[in-house]
Amino acid sequence: MKSICIAIDGPASSGKSTVAKIIAKNLGYTYLDTGAMYRSATYLALKEQLTEKDVDAILDLLAKHPISFGRQEDGTQSVFVGDKDVTLAIRQNDVTNNVSWVAAIPEVRTELVNQQRRIAEKGAIIMDGRDIGTVVLPNAELKIFLIASVDERAERRYKENLEKGIETNLERLKEEIAARDYKDSHRKVSPLKAADDAITFDTSGIPIEDVVQFIQEKAQKKIDSLS
Ligand code: C5P
Repeated sequence: MKSICIAIDGPASSGKSTVAKIIAKNLGYTYLDTGAMYRSATYLALKEQLTEKDVDAILDLLAKHPISFGRQEDGTQSVFVGDKDVTLAIRQNDVTNNVSWVAAIPEVRTELVNQQRRIAEKGAIIMDGRDIGTVVLPNAELKIFLIASVDERAERRYKENLEKGIETNLERLKEEIAARDYKDSHRKVSPLKAADDAITFDTSGIPIEDVVQFIQEKAQKKIDSLS
């Protein structure tokens, strides 16, 4: 059977990674969380107290501590920089609230986009992020743009954070999500936006299973049409 590339983009906490992980498992595809890569670059930059002016130093850190993914015993994905497991560290508030400036550095994007395209070379991939359909995989056979209200996204992230033991204030979370969306949508390079040929899906009030079913049906149709 032929395989396809699936791009899932959208603002913070719109459900991208949750649905992408389930669909990857169901189809036997590779899942790539590109947000985790920008978060890892941010983790490295913060550890060395770097700023947006220290572009070469951030690129050096990325070269010295390559980002890689592993699998935990329960099947969940873990993230490494060099041999350090940063799975939890990259979800902490300091990384979340700084990732937008790191992700706005053109040279950092070029490096990470090259890595993402290399991972996608073999196909059978589902990637989520902000610029997958527009920049990273413009030829992806299926492009989905997930949106949801800020309130609903904040509630989802709040629950996730509680489960991960990350201290969170719901009202502050709403402000942070809105601020991150604004920065991600208004940056010069590869801003968050739907590709012209993406299907936009508002997940507000819709159970995850229904979102998964919608995308998977579209994916199956594409796969069948190529086989
Ligand atoms: O998806 P997640 O919320 O983990 O992404 C964290 C941040 O990484 C985003 O807010 C954005 O600044 C950046 N990002 C990006 N391009 C991507 C994926 C994430 O700029 N493809």
